Amino acid sequence: MVKLASMSCDNLKELWNTILDTMALTVSNANFNTWFKNTAIVEKTESSMSIGTNSNFTKEWLQKKYHTFIIQAVNNICPEIKDIKYVVVSTNTIQKAQSNAQVIQTASSVATMKDLKFKRATFNPETLLKSSPDPKTNLNPKYQFENFIVGSHNELAHAAACAAVENLGAKYNPLFIYGGVGLGKTHLMQAVGNAVASHFKNKKIYYTSSETLTGDIVKAIRNGTIADLKDIYKKLDCLLIDDIQFISNKDKTQEELFHIFNALYEGNKQIVFTSDRPPKSIIGIEERLRSRFEGGMIVDISLPDYETRMAILLNKLREKNYSLPQEVIEYIALNIKSNIRELEGSLNTLLIKYQLKNQAPTLDDVKKILEDHIKKPTKMISSGLVIKTVSGFYNIPEVDLKGDSRRQDIIKARQVAMYILREVMKCSYPVIGSYFDNKDHTTVMHSCEKIIKNIKTNANLAQEVYTLTDKIVNSPF
Ligand code: ADP
Ligand code: MG
Repeated sequence: MVKLASMSCDNLKELWNTILDTMALTVSNANFNTWFKNTAIVEKTESSMSIGTNSNFTKEWLQKKYHTFIIQAVNNICPEIKDIKYVVVSTNTIQKAQSNAQVIQTASSVATMKDLKFKRATFNPETLLKSSPDPKTNLNPKYQFENFIVGSHNELAHAAACAAVENLGAKYNPLFIYGGVGLGKTHLMQAVGNAVASHFKNKKIYYTSSETLTGDIVKAIRNGTIADLKDIYKKLDCLLIDDIQFISNKDKTQEELFHIFNALYEGNKQIVFTSDRPPKSIIGIEERLRSRFEGGMIVDISLPDYETRMAILLNKLREKNYSLPQEVIEYIALNIKSNIRELEGSLNTLLIKYQLKNQAPTLDDVKKILEDHIKKPTKMISSGLVIKTVSGFYNIPEVDLKGDSRRQDIIKARQVAMYILREVMKCSYPVIGSYFDNKDHTTVMHSCEKIIKNIKTNANLAQEVYTLTDKIVNSPF
């Protein structure tokens, strides 16, 4: 084994990032942050790979719960990897691996990375280094307005975000951006933060997710430092909270956030939220908070059209300094429709795979490589699959599951199915209602709320929902 210089290390980092992109599509945000954030490839041979993490608990969890997903994602890019080990390493080692410092790899795979025909330059380590978030603001310089492609799907959100920067705290406050997964909410929100940072040198900006915020608040309450924490927040000029839907049912966080919000709002400080749904559809939040969310500007981001998908791909290629045949790019843009993260993921899979193989891709190769990516959306959006799986799991005929029976076991299964359609597939309440003999959306809402409440206290139910979700997400159909 030899230690490599920085170029091949970039490659391992990029390889892992591509694998993580795939994982991010499969697991929930919360799970992703918990289990995958502090991981890196710390060793790679021709047929094996070691994934490093900094705790034994995470190591075991990855091994037990995610190994099947991980091996699939890895083999999609590197079919020669037969063996994946999980190892505990120091945080320092992970940070080094994540920032392209020393990583170990065999010499034979180095040769294949040289002299690539279809690519004009290697990954630019400078860009990669620059793309880690600033620890003070949590802003990642890779998310800018300059590399945010505007199409009809995000035009309004983009315009509102620009206006918020230009009239900081005065117009569109709060700005509430909502839309499905992987459609650019975080990018746009971070672009607001980065633009504020570059336009106004002294403004204090802070980006956080509602899950991190919840964690910080819980910790501060435990340590008796909640007043200090609130003080820090109240001194900000621009607060960006991502994925605010996760504060549902977090009563203490909601209370503290309400006070932070009021202080900032009254001081004309800018607040931006993102969410996977509009404020009125976030269940389990206090009314006073919901009305704050609704008090400024609410904009949505929907699915990009073909032209926008092409523009995004071309832009990503330019950023990475790659070129691919036009028909290949068109094929990706035509077939990957569900979200932009997946679009980027497909492109990265392709680039990494061919970087490793040292061959320019043909249209046929691309079709083969992207098969998995292309199949996924249909699999992911099939409500029939959810209903079928839940029905099989609880041994309740589909017609009863969809019908009006008040038998306790049927009601429970029905609620679980609705919950999964909502949480995993992000279907709207009325749409879910339509799958269950046209039930009213309030019935669906009530069902979802019930499951959210019960899984907190009922470990068996939580396990059932977990197992079912796992089955559905991993179904080969
Ligand atoms: P979300 O937060 O909505 O789940 P992200 O902001 O994380 O989605 O976007 C997923 C990926 O797609 C990111 O890498 C982001 O840079 C990219 N992306 C999304 N929208 C655009 C866009 N309009 N132009 C360029 N890249 C985009
Ligand atoms: Mg996001």
